[in-house]
Amino acid sequence: MRAGRAVRILVLGFGLAASVAAAAATGPGAIDLDLRVSLDPAARQLRGEGVLRVPPGPAETVVLDGRYRDARLQWGGAPLRAAPAAAGHQAWTLPASDSTREVALAWAGQVEALDRNLDHRDTLEHNLPASSEDGSFLPADSGWYPAIPERPMRYRLELRLPAGQRGLVPGNLLEERDDATGYMARFDFPREGVGIDLMAGPYQITERIVTSLSGRPLRLRTWFLPGLENLAAGYLDSVADHLRTYERWIGPYPLDGFSVVASPTPTGFGMASLTYLGADVIRLPFIRATSLGHEVLHNWWGNGVRPAPGRGNWTEGLTTLMADYHVRERESAEAAREARIGWLRDIAALPQERDAGLEAFTARTHAASHIIGYQKTAMLLLMLRDHIGREAFDAGLRSLWRTHAFRPASWDDLRQAWEHAAGRDLGSFLEPWLRRPGIPTVRVESARLVHGTSGPLLRLHLSQDTPDRVLRVPLVLRGGGRSWDAEVLLEGAATTVDLAVPAIPDEVVLDQDARLLRRLGPGEAPPIVRDLMVDLRASLRVLSPEAGYRRAAREMADRLLDAPPEDRPAVAPLDGPALVVGPRAALLAFLGQVGLEAQPQPDTDGAAAMAWTLRGPAGPVLAITAEDEADLRALARPLPHLGRQSWLVTQGGRVSAKGVWPSRPPVTPVQAVQFE
Ligand SMILES: [Zn+2]
Repeated sequence: MRAGRAVRILVLGFGLAASVAAAAATGPGAIDLDLRVSLDPAARQLRGEGVLRVPPGPAETVVLDGRYRDARLQWGGAPLRAAPAAAGHQAWTLPASDSTREVALAWAGQVEALDRNLDHRDTLEHNLPASSEDGSFLPADSGWYPAIPERPMRYRLELRLPAGQRGLVPGNLLEERDDATGYMARFDFPREGVGIDLMAGPYQITERIVTSLSGRPLRLRTWFLPGLENLAAGYLDSVADHLRTYERWIGPYPLDGFSVVASPTPTGFGMASLTYLGADVIRLPFIRATSLGHEVLHNWWGNGVRPAPGRGNWTEGLTTLMADYHVRERESAEAAREARIGWLRDIAALPQERDAGLEAFTARTHAASHIIGYQKTAMLLLMLRDHIGREAFDAGLRSLWRTHAFRPASWDDLRQAWEHAAGRDLGSFLEPWLRRPGIPTVRVESARLVHGTSGPLLRLHLSQDTPDRVLRVPLVLRGGGRSWDAEVLLEGAATTVDLAVPAIPDEVVLDQDARLLRRLGPGEAPPIVRDLMVDLRASLRVLSPEAGYRRAAREMADRLLDAPPEDRPAVAPLDGPALVVGPRAALLAFLGQVGLEAQPQPDTDGAAAMAWTLRGPAGPVLAITAEDEADLRALARPLPHLGRQSWLVTQGGRVSAKGVWPSRPPVTPVQAVQFE
C-alpha cells in the first residue's frame, strides 16, 4: 500500500490481511491538517475545505485524487497550480520555505456508487472512495483529501452528514450533534498518524464509557447497521476485555476510545481507534475473540509503534503472537500446539526460492509474503520468548512502548529492547532470521548409548541445513515407560553431544511440541481438509446411485476444491488424491477395499454426517459420510471454512465437533551401548 492506514484484518483464517503503510521517519516534523468535510451519500457528493500546515523545509508535493475537479489550493494569498500526477491524481508543488506554510484547501467532487457485490479483495484492490445511503467508505489511500504522501500527520476533522446518517474518522471524538438538520461530529487525531479513512452510514450507535488502567475515561462504541443491534453489548464487552488485557500487558491505551464500525460490504480493516468490519463478519461468533483482539492490539503495534519504513514490518507477526495465538494459549495447551503446527505447516508450504529474511516483509502482497510476515515471524518471536523467558520478553515490549509510541521502530529497536530486558546479546540468535532466507531442516542423525566415566551417556548427532542459525532443539527421550525432556544447542551445520540420562532411552523424539521454527518433514503434519482442497489432481467418488445425492456431492466438490474434480467410479484402487462421499456402510466398505479402514475416524455418537482426512496410498483422501442428501448438504455448507481441521461431524445442521489429528514428529531409535 501507499500512504494510508496501518492494518488490514485477518478474517476467516485465510490471509486477507495486512499492510502497514510506510510512514516516513519523524524527520522534518509532522504535517498538520484541519479539515471540514461534508458528504451527501444520496448524491455521492463530497465537499471539503481547510488548512494544511507544513513545517519549514524543502518544496513538497501535495496530492489529491483527480476526480475532485473542483480543487483549489492557495498559499500566501496566491493559488498553486495543479498538474496531473501518477495514478489519476493531481499534484501541487508547494515551494520551499523557512517558515511554516499554511495552505488553504477547497475541493469537491463525486465519488463512486457503493457496490455491495465487492468482496474484501475487490475493496483492497479497487481502493476507490464509494458512497451510498447504505454506507460510505473513503479509504485514505484513495486520495480523497489533499495530503503529502508518506508523511505522518496530525489532524482535526469536522464531518457533516444529512439527517439519519452518522460517520467517523480515526481519532478522539471532541463534539457531536445529531438532529433533524443533520449530523455533525469533530474528531482530533493528536499524534502522528498515517492517513484518514472516513466511514459513514445509517448507523445506530451504542456507547459505553469504561475506565482505562491510567484512570482516563474510554469511549467504546459500536456503529452498527440495522439488524446487528443485539450484538452491540457483546462487542462492547469484548472490546473492554481486550483493552484491559493489553493495557496490563503492554501499557496505557493511547487514544480516548475504540469503535467497531459495520460495513455493508464483506470487508475487514483495522485503523487507529477503530475496526471496520463487514456486517456478515460481525455476525460470525468467533470474531469477538479473534479478529477483534488482533485489531485492538494494532493500536499498540502497527498504529501505535509503527514499523520503520523500509526496515521490515514486525507488527503483524507480533500481533499474531499476542492476539491470535494468545487466544489459543488461553484455550488449552493442545489448542496452542495445533496453532503452532498450523504455522509450521504454512511455513513448509513456502517454496525455498520464495522464502526471505523477516526484514524483507513490509506488506502482504502475495501468499508467500503473508507467510513470512505472519506465521514465520510469529514463530520466531515465540522461539525468542522461549529463549529469554516470558518475563524478559514482555518487559522488552513494555519498554518499546514507552520509548516508541507513535514513532517508527525497526527490528534493531526491538532487539535492543529485548537485549536490555534479558541482559544478554541476541545478535547471533536473531540476525540470521532477519537478514537471510532459511527454514532449517533439523535431523537427529543418530542416537546411541556410550559408556561414560560415571554411567551410560546418550550420544546425539544433530544436523541442520542452515548453518547460520542458532537453534535450541527440544527433544523428548522415551524409554522404560518414562519420558523426559532434553535440549541440544545446535550451532553450525552439525553437533554431537553426550547427555547424562536418568534411565536408558529407547527413542528420541524431535521437537514433539512443535516449538522450533523448522521445515516439517513429509508426513509429519497431520492431514487436514485443506490438503485436498488445493490438490489439483483430486477425483470424486460417490458411493450412492441416488441422483439428488450425487448432485449434492458434485456441488459440494465444486465448491470445496480449487479445481473441479473428475468423477470416477467408486471402485478400488485409489490411485490418487480423492474426495470419497457416501452413506456410512458403503463408504466404510470402500475404505476397507482400498486398505484404509484402520485409519482414525471421528467419534460418531449422534452424528448426522462427518468428514475426515486420511493418508491415502497416493495422496490425501477426504472421506465424507452422510445417509441422505439433506445431511450431506448440511455438512457441505460449513466445510470450506474448516480447511484447517482434520475431521468434523455435524448434528442438527451444525458442526457439533471438529479437530486435528495428532502430528507425527520424527523419532530416532537409540542404538545399543558401544564400547569405546
Ligand atoms: Zn494485523
